[in-house]
Amino acid sequence: MRWTVVALIGTWLAYVVLLVLWGPGLVTLRDSVLYVAVSVLAAGLVIARVVLVTRERPAWTVLAVGLVLSLGAMAVYGLAVAPLDPEPFPSVADGLFLTVYLAWYGAVALLVRNRLRDVPRSVWLDGAVAVLAGGALLGAWFLAPIRSALTGSLLSVMVSTAYPVADVLLLLLAIFGLVVLGSRAPRTLWWFAAAMVTAGTADLAYWQSLSAGGPVRGTWFSALWPASRVMLAVAAWVPVPERARRRPAIAMLLVAPAVSLVVSVGVLVRASEHEVPVAAVAMAATALLGVLLRLAMTVAETGRMMDAHRIAATDELTDLPNRRGFGAGAARVIAASTPENPGALLMLDLDGFKEVNDSLGHHAGDRLLADLADRIRDTLRSPDDVLGRLGGDEFALMLPGVTPAEADQVALRLAAALRTRFIIDGVSVQSAASIGIALVPEHGSELSLLLRRADIAMYRAKVDHLGHTTYDAERDQVGEDRLHRVAEVRQAVEGGELVLHYQPKVALPEGTVVAVEALVRWDRPGHGLVFPDDFLPLVEDAGLMPALTAVVLEAAVTQAAAWRAEGIPLPVAVNLPSAAVVDEALPERVADLLARHSLPAALLQIEITEEALLRDRTRAQAVLARLRLMGIRISIDDYGSGYSSLAYLRELTVDEIKLDKSFVFPMADDARAASIVRSTIDLAHALGLGIVAEGVEHLVAAQELSSYGCDTAQGYFWTRPLPAHRLREWIDARSDQDHDLDRVDLLGGALDPSAARADP
Ligand code: C2E
Ligand code: CA
Ligand code: CA
Repeated sequence: MRWTVVALIGTWLAYVVLLVLWGPGLVTLRDSVLYVAVSVLAAGLVIARVVLVTRERPAWTVLAVGLVLSLGAMAVYGLAVAPLDPEPFPSVADGLFLTVYLAWYGAVALLVRNRLRDVPRSVWLDGAVAVLAGGALLGAWFLAPIRSALTGSLLSVMVSTAYPVADVLLLLLAIFGLVVLGSRAPRTLWWFAAAMVTAGTADLAYWQSLSAGGPVRGTWFSALWPASRVMLAVAAWVPVPERARRRPAIAMLLVAPAVSLVVSVGVLVRASEHEVPVAAVAMAATALLGVLLRLAMTVAETGRMMDAHRIAATDELTDLPNRRGFGAGAARVIAASTPENPGALLMLDLDGFKEVNDSLGHHAGDRLLADLADRIRDTLRSPDDVLGRLGGDEFALMLPGVTPAEADQVALRLAAALRTRFIIDGVSVQSAASIGIALVPEHGSELSLLLRRADIAMYRAKVDHLGHTTYDAERDQVGEDRLHRVAEVRQAVEGGELVLHYQPKVALPEGTVVAVEALVRWDRPGHGLVFPDDFLPLVEDAGLMPALTAVVLEAAVTQAAAWRAEGIPLPVAVNLPSAAVVDEALPERVADLLARHSLPAALLQIEITEEALLRDRTRAQAVLARLRLMGIRISIDDYGSGYSSLAYLRELTVDEIKLDKSFVFPMADDARAASIVRSTIDLAHALGLGIVAEGVEHLVAAQELSSYGCDTAQGYFWTRPLPAHRLREWIDARSDQDHDLDRVDLLGGALDPSAARADP
């Protein structure tokens, strides 16, 4: 096909050379041989695509019909109409030529249709504005002169008008498609639209020249018709990269509105001096209004996203930051803490809260928590202290810049404040709390570790009735026991006891598997499979995380290469711990690994949590940028569970975000969660990022996500993570069924989630 395309381009170049050198001369060779050759070759290439490639076959079939029809029209015109004297107008050939437009419209519509699902509203508006501005431009410059020059019978005027009008429609349709799809549009579509724009421009120039009495053959626009055929053939065979979704720069999002603005103003300015059709002026004015509306929408949209973001980060009952919101603030404190300027994390848990709840009822429990929150708030030293409610009766307080003694003081003040009785619904309630303290960075510089240690200390405070106490490695982690466990996980990591299971990432709504995520398990002799949540903390404590990462990367890349060799090139996503992302040697090691297994970088993806990026943002950015440059896709994992901020999403160079399970689980019966999911999807798309929803356990959730425009999802609904060979069986078993969510039979059938629900 490549050589046929090259031959086609060569033929067109020959045509152009003849055109430039001999102008109106050598007409037979040029117009009867080369022009026809280009048209026939292009039609052949498009027909070949219809036959050989299944993707988007309907659109290409319609296009092929159009090309064949236009060949037919050329033949009828050349053989039957042109030789007559006088040449009749309009003739059968015109009927055929005009019918061809229907095929062009149909093909554009079919190509664009499938891709419009996740387009945000503001971008639709951009499309509409661009069409108005384009219409105004074409109306002002082309249509007016053509119209005023038309003479003849009613039928001939109608037919002559039909051509330019059909061309304008075609141009506008192509412009609309490109603006709305923007960088999402695959290369095919760009070539296709370029072909349509080229043909439309040639036609309009022809009509304008004709009505002005200028030359209509052998001029510059004569080269455009065959050029548009060449572009169609290229569009048919240009390679489609694997699901690459380039992320538009923010500036790119502004190109369409900006150009529309300039064009509309241009038309209005011209109207003040020349005669311009009223319709064009009206369109330009409407386009201007549209641009204003677009501005207003952008402002409102940003506001809504910030709202959703704030709601997602606050606890309704106490109006304090929730676990998410607390994480954001706490991470900043952790990042700023050093041994010289330490911080402290206090974790507070009410003693006997359950009894209050049980004896006085939920409502009283809620009141107590709200009052409690107020009292804790009053003990804060400065606005830099970060307070949050982690859930239930658990509160956390992160103090920047404190000595251990000062942290103790704060704990004492807190305990004293809580000892004063609360009056709840007229009942006096005595309360007390236990407080655990972890020091930053002495006891860890990762929030999860600090929370765990503060929790351990708090538990000891509660059991031993201490009021408050600070984490103590000696006391809290019985030395011998720990040594023993470290030896065990060392054996796990270095002795080959780690195995990977794979869970598919599935495209919505078609249900095709687009990638898999590798999840590590410890196949512990005598214990069965141990899940990451139960041993990764140990691995981290023992300093074995880098070793584990190396083992996992090696195994994942080996598996990806094996699948590729078996003819299923499945991208494999690997989870990296946050420390790996600030390791400047990582990109080289990954490059080596890929080279050793001859694996294309596009088949490796990397998932990192937001925490990773807060540690050392500049370094993490640099490492990620290098990985991305190699062609590795980067995802932000557990998006929304921690420190998500709009600001940092903007500056990050990542390809996709994975919406945390905790948003997806409550979606069905919690409108707030659903609205957060929806805005996050919109936000991701507005920034040109892909989005994967995690933790999809039911058909309803899958369908709901799909209706929000979410492109990809993962979850037990499709399957639990499976060992490589089981995953292969699973994929093979599905391959001959239809998994499109939009066509799923709700009463069972192809997608029975219970069928594959064990992570064996
Ligand atoms: P993650 O990266 O968020 O991985 C997704 C987790 O969600 C997996 O748990 C998966 O089994 C689980 N999951 C998938 N679908 C559903 C669903 O529909 N419902 C529910 N309830 N859960 C679902 P898993 O395998 O236990 O892994 C837990 C975490 O351990 C991972 O969270 C990841 O952070 C970490 N992890 C796993 N493998 C590795 C690894 O190789 N390296 C590192 N550094 N971390 C890993
Ligand atoms: Ca993950
Ligand atoms: Ca996740």
